[in-house]
Amino acid sequence: MKTIGLLGGMSWESSIEYERIINEQMRARLGGAASADLLIRSYNFSDVQALQAQGRWDDAGALLASDAVRLQEAGADLIVLCTNTMHVVAPAIEAAISVPFLHLADTTAEAVVEAGVSAVALLGTRYTMEQDFYRGRLESHGLIALVPDEPDRTSVHDVIYNELVQGVVSPQSKLTYLEIIGRLLDRGAQGVIAGCTEIELLISPDDVDVPYFPTTRLHAEAAVAAALDG
Ligand code: GLU
Repeated sequence: MKTIGLLGGMSWESSIEYERIINEQMRARLGGAASADLLIRSYNFSDVQALQAQGRWDDAGALLASDAVRLQEAGADLIVLCTNTMHVVAPAIEAAISVPFLHLADTTAEAVVEAGVSAVALLGTRYTMEQDFYRGRLESHGLIALVPDEPDRTSVHDVIYNELVQGVVSPQSKLTYLEIIGRLLDRGAQGVIAGCTEIELLISPDDVDVPYFPTTRLHAEAAVAAALDG
């Protein structure tokens, strides 16, 4: 089994789901008392959020890249960055390490393509919905990514930072998200990407009538496959 290096804590509310899903999958695959071989770097998310808010992406990239190197030096055979948003600095991380980096947008896109969906709704932070690092990567897999119009984008973003990363799961916000998803389906989306690792704490596959792509689960399962199957 390969050692998986997790860059987490962004937020820990979703990182613990990564750890739980990865360990559950390892037990399901290997049986008995098997669990994952993990190295975890978990940040104080307030520090990361401050870098985001100040637009200090180069500093954030340098921080994550240096910790990815530390995970590699400690024995990680692959690196998993447990947040969609911080994939904005994926190139800095990939340039710093020599072990594989499991890019979340690729994992997600592969699942969407496999489901036969071509136009997909993308919900996430403002950074993920508006910048090219994620949408462009989906589009490079032949997908059309539809993001909410304003003011829905602000609502989606605010629920993530004001509620979900703080451990608040609100029924009212769930209704808000479902209304926004409905508008994206009206615009032609055939499926929905929970493109923020906390969104699946709010919306489950049973809540939507179309294929649903929960990025924490997809990424965690891909990490297990990479650790066991190469
Ligand atoms: N976990 C979230 C994501 O997947 C948002 C927190 C962050 O900005 O990293 O995008």
